[in-house]
Parts: sequence; C-alpha cells; structure tokens
Amino acid sequence: MNTTADAIIIGGGIIGASCAYHLSQRGLSVHIIERDFPASGTSRACDGLILQWDKLPGTELALGLASQQLWQELGSQFGAEIGFEQAGTIFIAEQADQLDAGSLKAYALRDAGQHAEVLTPRELRELEPELAPDLAGGVLFPDDLQVDPRRATLAMLAAAQRRGAQIHSEEPVLDLQRAPDGDQAITGVITPGGSIAAPHVICAAGVWSAEIAQLAGLNIPIQPRKGHILVSDIRPKKIHHPLLEGGYATTVQSAAEDVQVALVAEMTASGSLLLGSSREFAGFDRRVSLAVIQAIAQRAVRFLPGLKHSSVIRSYVGLRPWSPDHLPLIGPTSGALGFYLASGHEGAGIGLAPITGKLIADWITGAALPDYAHTLLPDRFESLLEDTTNVLV
Ligand SMILES: Cc1cc2nc3c(=O)[nH]c(=O)nc-3n(C[C@H](O)[C@H](O)[C@H](O)COP(=O)(O)OP(=O)(O)OC[C@H]3O[C@@H](n4cnc5c(N)ncnc54)[C@H](O)[C@@H]3O)c2cc1C
Repeated sequence: MNTTADAIIIGGGIIGASCAYHLSQRGLSVHIIERDFPASGTSRACDGLILQWDKLPGTELALGLASQQLWQELGSQFGAEIGFEQAGTIFIAEQADQLDAGSLKAYALRDAGQHAEVLTPRELRELEPELAPDLAGGVLFPDDLQVDPRRATLAMLAAAQRRGAQIHSEEPVLDLQRAPDGDQAITGVITPGGSIAAPHVICAAGVWSAEIAQLAGLNIPIQPRKGHILVSDIRPKKIHHPLLEGGYATTVQSAAEDVQVALVAEMTASGSLLLGSSREFAGFDRRVSLAVIQAIAQRAVRFLPGLKHSSVIRSYVGLRPWSPDHLPLIGPTSGALGFYLASGHEGAGIGLAPITGKLIADWITGAALPDYAHTLLPDRFESLLEDTTNVLV
C-alpha cells in the first residue's frame, strides 16, 4: 500500500469517522488506518446520548452546542440509519438540593437558547410513571439527542468512502514517518502493509492516543477511564426519555480515583435498557467487575423500582479517553509539524464528534475558526514537550 494522500487518520472510531467525513467533504483524499475494525474501540462500548446540561459554561458548552447543531444536520441526512432521535433527557433529583442544582442548569441553558422545564414530583411521574414515588422532581431537557454510536460511526465512514476515502482495517500504525532532513515534521505512517505519506496525520486513537503521540515525540496526558454498562432483558414497560440522576454531572467532572457510580438509563430500539454508569481509573483493564455491576443495579432499582423483576442479560466495559482539564485535545501540535490530535473526549465523544471533525478540517484547510478552537489546542499541556520516555499510559 505504498501511496500518498492529503490526510491520514489513525483510528476508525466515531472521532476518526467524523474527521474523515469532514475532510472528504472538503475534497481532500483521506486514508483511515484502523488497527481492528471500524468502531471496535470505545465507540461501540458506550451510550449514545448527546447532552448539554453536563457541560461546563465556556468552551465546553460552546463546543457542545456547536456539535448539537451538526448532529441535527446529520440526523436529517441519516435519520433512522444512525438511530437518531431527539428524545430529550430527564435530570432526576433525589433530594431538594439536587433539584436546585438542576434548576440552575435549566436557567443557564435557557440563556444559551436551549429549552428546559423544571418538573414537580407529580409532573416527573406523569412523564415517567416507572420512576420511584419519593423523588424531589426533575428537569426535562427536550433538545438533547440520542444516536446509535456504532451505526453513526459506520454511516460517517461510508459517506467519506463515497467521496473517495479509503479505510484500512486490521492495519495497526506501527510508526510515523519523519521528514528526511531530521526536523520535527511528521510526513506519514508505517503499517505492516507498507507506508502512506501525507502532509497531515491526525491521531484519533481514543485511549490509545498517548501511544501514537509518543511515536511523534509528544507526551500527552490522556488516560483511560473505565465505564460499565448493563443491558437488561427486553421489557414490556418502557421509559420514554433517557434518565440521568442529578449526581451524574458531578461524577463526570470529578477526577476521583475511586469508583464513581451514577444512574444513566437509556432505552434501545430493541426494547432493552442500557444501564450505567461507572467511572474509575483502572488502566487498560477491560474486565467486568461484579461489585460495580451490583452498584449500578442498586442505583437503577432505587430510581426504577420495577427493574427488580428484570434480568441483566449482558454487561460490558468501555474506556473513556480522559483529559486532565476535562476538554478534548483538538488541533495541530507545534512539537510535531503535520501531526494533529483529535482525542481526549472522555464521556462526551459521541456528542462532540461532529464538531471535532469540523474543527480538524478547519485547521487543515485554513478555514475561519471559532475563538474557542484555540483553547482546545494540545500545546496547552506543558507535558507535550517533555521527554517522552516518561509517558504514563
Ligand atoms: C460506558 C461509557 C458510556 C459513554 N456514554 C457516552 C454518551 O452517552 N455520550 C457521549 O457523547 N459519549 C459517551 N461515552 C464516551 C464516548 O464513547 C467516547 O468519548 C468516544 O467513543 C471516543 O471515540 P474515539 O473515536 O476517540 O475512540 P475509539 O472509539 O476508541 O476509537 C479509537 C480507535 O483507534 C484504534 N487504534 C488504536 N491504536 C491504533 C493503532 N496503533 N493503529 C490504528 N488504529 C488504532 C482503535 O482500534 C479504535 O478503533 C461513553 C463512554 C463509555 C465508556
């Protein structure tokens, strides 16, 4: 496969797929290099919620809102093929102080042009009769979206392929090519099948991005943050919106070492419930833990008591690409010219995939960038230029 391209994307998850989609739309020739198969990493071991209320004001919310708009456009284009739905989400408050916190989020999002409705306990149960009767209330965020992450990844890759992009599956990137004069420029990738040269190499390798960046001489601080999901059997009774307990946003923003659990319940098209969610730093360990499963099940039964009559038919683990300041790394790097990062989205990579691909395409094609794009540059981490022999992964 010794060949050339305008851009090479390392990783065929949802972030790599979105980069491929946007770059090929702008007429660039693109090669996607995937170690296993498309959507074989975290993008098939996750939920598919596109939320705004878990975002902090500032760059994160601006990024979320821009991506929501792009998801709406993708939804119009792909619709049911990607499981697109504007299902909204409900923030569930167990106690009065959580309802206060949820109400503040509602007011802040209304200021940003979103819809949000604070719910009394009665209104909450009218919307979701299966919820426990003793809750303090909730907030309905009707603009939140839902997709099937695996199918969305495949649809964006297929759209890129129709514009000429080439996908290389079961083809791990083993090394990066450098300019012959010994400067810091990255000029391509080396795989078992040969080499591809390109002026732009984008690392979208999720939790494995630190390994790839190390090949470019960069020390990036992305770490895996493990999450469990349980799948219930098919249920006759439905929940009508994805439900998230009020403490969820706290677990997202916390960097605590111990296991954090907060209920996330999402109905799939088949009638199963996906129940999450846990967060812990456990390296690359993808084993399922019985203790964590039990903790998630207990939270689920606390909020949805009828679930005690359901069975869990499956459970799985995904690894979120965690970044220390809770923002992804998106854009070029000054330490390795031609090398870009599109990684570190933690638990928001599905939601933020479209804007990430667009920003990468903007950087590469020299298009106008929003102000917040500069906040996301990987160079904000001083560790980037440290000796890469100290990389912790
Ligand atoms: C339990 C859980 C629930 C979640 N729920 C949500 C949610 O509701 N909403 C949301 O927005 N986000 C959610 N997320 C987060 C989201 O899943 C991730 O942020 C997103 O999937 C990351 O996508 P990615 O493309 O960066 O990584 P990945 O999907 O992991 O893709 C990286 C790819 O790179 C490939 N790769 C690695 N090394 C190499 C190499 N050397 N050569 C070639 N290829 C390589 C891998 O095989 C992989 O396919 C959740 C995550 C978890 C774990």
